[in-house]
Amino acid sequence: MIKKEIDTYGCPVGFVKIGPFDYEIRWVDFKYYLTHMSSGQCEFDLKILWVVHDMGKWMMLDTLYHEINHAVEHTFGMKVDREEKDDEKQRAYRSEEQHVTVISTGTVGWRRDNSELRNWENSLYEQAFTKTDS
Ligand SMILES: [Zn+2]
Repeated sequence: MIKKEIDTYGCPVGFVKIGPFDYEIRWVDFKYYLTHMSSGQCEFDLKILWVVHDMGKWMMLDTLYHEINHAVEHTFGMKVDREEKDDEKQRAYRSEEQHVTVISTGTVGWRRDNSELRNWENSLYEQAFTKTDS
């Protein structure tokens, strides 16, 4: 029997932990974009982040952050239902969409433009959240 490995396109993990939830990351190709007119999606109910991997590394990062931010909003924020037809809830969804887009694109940009700060930030995470025996 041939076991087919799932290609993660260099991502070392298959899940991202957000609060108490593990969201599975599913990498999809450009056909997903053509079908959905979107480079990704966060499915709250199934805890799946869909991310197109072959539209360039920048778009891959931006989409991953974008979908993670939707999951963060849904976990800690307003829990907006995008299928809801109510005008007020549609406005809330559009507001969330705008918010996660700005934060995701901005985060990719500042992390790109500040590699020393990014590296220090990574080391600070290690220091802040690594348990010691003392
Ligand atoms: Zn979105």
